[in-house]
Amino acid sequence: MAIVGVQKQSVVLVPYPYQGHITPMLQLGTILHSNGFSVVVAHTKFNSPDPSNHPEFTFLPLEDNLSGFDTSYYNTLAVVAAINENCKVPFQDSLVQLMKDEEKNGQVRCVIHDPIMTFGRSAANHLQIPSLVLCTYNAVYMQTYHTILQLQAENCFPLQESRMLEPVPDIHALRFKDLGIPADIEIPQPVLEFFANVSNLGSSVAIIWNTNQELDHIALSQLQRHYEVPFFPIGPFNKMAPPSSTSFLEEERNCMEWLDKQDPNSVLYISLGSLASIEKKELEETAWGLANSGQPFLWVIRPSSVNGSEWIEQLPKGFQEAVGERGCIVKWSPQKEVLAHSAVGGFLTHCGWNSTLESLCEAVPMICRPCFADQLTNARYLTHVWNVGLELENVTDRVAIEKTIKKLMVDNEGNEMRKRVLEMKQKLETSIQKGGSSYRSLNELTEFILSFPR
Ligand code: UDP
Repeated sequence: MAIVGVQKQSVVLVPYPYQGHITPMLQLGTILHSNGFSVVVAHTKFNSPDPSNHPEFTFLPLEDNLSGFDTSYYNTLAVVAAINENCKVPFQDSLVQLMKDEEKNGQVRCVIHDPIMTFGRSAANHLQIPSLVLCTYNAVYMQTYHTILQLQAENCFPLQESRMLEPVPDIHALRFKDLGIPADIEIPQPVLEFFANVSNLGSSVAIIWNTNQELDHIALSQLQRHYEVPFFPIGPFNKMAPPSSTSFLEEERNCMEWLDKQDPNSVLYISLGSLASIEKKELEETAWGLANSGQPFLWVIRPSSVNGSEWIEQLPKGFQEAVGERGCIVKWSPQKEVLAHSAVGGFLTHCGWNSTLESLCEAVPMICRPCFADQLTNARYLTHVWNVGLELENVTDRVAIEKTIKKLMVDNEGNEMRKRVLEMKQKLETSIQKGGSSYRSLNELTEFILSFPR
């Protein structure tokens, strides 16, 4: 639905500055822009998006005072606290300025913020602007926050090892193991506070989800009973927004020419996303598993993603000679295009939600190697609910890796998965077309935003 109005209407987006969060927020911006809204992106200077990739948006850099701060993944909670503390006033000031400047930017109708960026909601609330949350992960993962907090209230932690394979109450198909809380540990207080903050909507008036009724209807309807605000599951965004680069790292496009030379469905694509890192042992065993599988492969090894090395120095001796032209290694790929290439027949993935959606939307079956957070729940759904992924059981055993690759790429089991994932792709496509559930939800979202009093 496009808006035909006399005055421009604008939405202000507040992304969490990491790749897996900023990409869907910018995709949402593109979707809302093509529905007639002006889009303002209020962002930290740390991990700032590149405005030249989105000339149609207005970008508002916020002073985050993070220079000199330890922004490594291990310090995430401190980074989140610092951003929420430091950006609130600058954001509030920017909103006041935007409201004064309505002629130019359009009337500010709402703020849409990542659940982690609670300063977005506080500033909006202070100025009586409605705020909405964009959940960049799925509803099943949001349920895990509620369950963990509930289990904590019932003094169930630490969990005993013997319970890890038992089903989690109230979350379809999950085991305690999939919650990502190791056995025999107490959850640190700051982590519990983080879960509580992120799952608490505060004054926000709705949740937009980059998920879909096809994928997530059980969790969505269970959560809807808890949150008494409208839900707008309008994903998958990656198929609704025309492709544009949102990458922080430079995409190595020469891998597309290498893919052009490979046979259909023959290539295994390997990437663990923007944050996960691995040990040298896993790098070595993966390398030999790939070499011994005989399959062509395109492997993304991000700089510094192998502990203790800058890039690929720790690849085993003799590996590159053994695979020759059959393998291509890059630092960062144009992943959406890679997955859409007809040569790609499988994806060894960490199961980040964006990667999961991108793979499902291109009907590429997966080998699941989750590392942390929602990757565990996504992997469980891929392997045991949707049956379009194989679990990688031992990441430091080259024989297990080789066998799993062959199972996916060559064996009948992989072919059956390829058929199922094609059906899923078709259902996802239907959901975003006229009359589909995400399509309807997007129209409802547009009407909802326009219904706010001016
Ligand atoms: N990505 C990419 N090139 C790469 C690896 C990843 O463009 O070489 C993109 C991928 O398409 C996805 C995002 O980075 O959109 C990673 O997000 P995801 O939620 O899968 O994982 P995270 O990085 O948050 O762990």
